[in-house]
Amino acid sequence: MRAKGEQLLGAQDFDAEELLAGVVEWVELETPSERPDLIDRLLDRVEAQFGDLPVSIRRIPGRDGCGGQLVLTYAPGGLNGEPALIMGHVDTVWEAGTLARRPVRREGDRVYGPGIFDMKAGSWLAVDALHRIAAAGLLPPRPIVVYLNSDEEIGSYTSRGVIEELSRNAAFVMVPEPAFEAPGTVVTKRKGWGRFVLRAHGRSAHAGGNLFDGRSAILEVARHIIDIEAMTATETHATFNVGTVHGGTRPNVVPAEAVIEIDMRADDMATAERLTAAMLARTSYNPDVRIEVEGGINRPPFERSPAVARMYEATKHLALELGLPMAETSRGGVSDGNFSAALGRPVIDGLGCNGGGAHAIDEHILVSTLAPRAALFHGMLMSRHFHEDLSEA
Ligand SMILES: [Zn+2]
Repeated sequence: MRAKGEQLLGAQDFDAEELLAGVVEWVELETPSERPDLIDRLLDRVEAQFGDLPVSIRRIPGRDGCGGQLVLTYAPGGLNGEPALIMGHVDTVWEAGTLARRPVRREGDRVYGPGIFDMKAGSWLAVDALHRIAAAGLLPPRPIVVYLNSDEEIGSYTSRGVIEELSRNAAFVMVPEPAFEAPGTVVTKRKGWGRFVLRAHGRSAHAGGNLFDGRSAILEVARHIIDIEAMTATETHATFNVGTVHGGTRPNVVPAEAVIEIDMRADDMATAERLTAAMLARTSYNPDVRIEVEGGINRPPFERSPAVARMYEATKHLALELGLPMAETSRGGVSDGNFSAALGRPVIDGLGCNGGGAHAIDEHILVSTLAPRAALFHGMLMSRHFHEDLSEA
């Protein structure tokens, strides 16, 4: 039960309009993954916001064309132990200038804007939760770490190491990626994601003069496409999509080169590993055509491990106590939570606002879900009851 005197906040204790104003401020700072300068401008803003608070700030500079990362740690009075970690990305899939064509607009409960749903609203709520707790000088049961990266939408190649380091040291991980289903729903399972490129090298020839000397790279990849697409039906725990195909030069030339890109989703690590090995071991149909396959698992599957189940139970209890709806779901799309879950850590994902249209022009959040999520974040970070539940392994 809740410790005597512990102050939990309900949704009614948060002003939705005030929360929305903060989210909109972030949306109006465009942050496409490929613009480190713009991403750094947003991270500068966050740093400035914590200027005089007892929050330590670790700024990891961007590299390889990606923006920076920020680690904010609140450990008042030498509080130690494994921290609670909230992890979000600040990059979006929208190029700079999108906002000018499609400014933030509101229609009833819906607020539209590029990146608002995936995941400016969630990441902003994470920062705001920490800011409120630190500004009020509250003493949480454990240190709180808020981590922001800026290359999630392009594969988290420069941030994966930090994600894994922080996750390994954390008591539990909260990922405020968007929530798609009914208000209150969180994500406790995600598929893993693999990406592959298959290149075929044949032999060019004149399609009229010496057709039979040619070896068609397009014909070769066509056979692989049919094979790979068929695996979606034959594999119980994985799906495949050949998403791009390029090849050939002119209609009257036997194509010497062709390339396809393949997306694989798998429910569990054993399946992902088996199918990755099979993909990399593919051989050509035509012995005169050479094929090369590159790629692998980008995000390991986020399985509903006992640690995840335990954290979900605690989250459900807390939501009940706060009078908030709570349900769990699984998704085919990946997040950085996949990395944490694959390390066996307790993770709850999909903690962001409800809405829709991720990566689409109708991207929006429901304003009515801001305050309930803010209350849930506060409770997860502050309630001793929530933390006790998690340690009952
Ligand atoms: Zn996202």
